[in-house]
Amino acid sequence: MSKRKPKKDSMINIINKFSNNEQACVDFFFNVKCPTGFYCEKCGCTHFYSIKRGHVFECAKCGHQHYLFSGTIFQDNKLPLFKLILGLYLFFSANKAYSAIEMANQLDLNYKTALKFCQKCRVLMTLSNSERILDSLFYEADTLYIGSKTSSKPRNGY
Ligand SMILES: [Zn+2]
Repeated sequence: MSKRKPKKDSMINIINKFSNNEQACVDFFFNVKCPTGFYCEKCGCTHFYSIKRGHVFECAKCGHQHYLFSGTIFQDNKLPLFKLILGLYLFFSANKAYSAIEMANQLDLNYKTALKFCQKCRVLMTLSNSERILDSLFYEADTLYIGSKTSSKPRNGY
């Protein structure tokens, strides 16, 4: 059996995956932020509890709370996560420059918010490799489900 090349997610796939699925949205950004998994900068612990609908990760050992967007370009984000993902997808998959007006219309945002969002996307794009990183996340969005929620893997010895 030959390996299929991963296909880029279509808009409809993105919508199906992330709309009304806050956990999938949180997982998406969690994987961008912590590609190697959770790590507490205070004590080095790798275990955490997710609280506040998954937007905050509390270290299981020292209780230090890590916010999903703290230290990132979306630190002051007030948009629903789904709109953020959709906006990133639209921006990074557009063939030509994606305008704030288009974003405002497609995501139902006011112009000022869309403008700010586009500016952030542009910053991401100019940062080294971030275009590819974000792009590959949309290619491999399925893998984002691995490791989240309950594991379906059978345990050894059972
Ligand atoms: Zn800790």
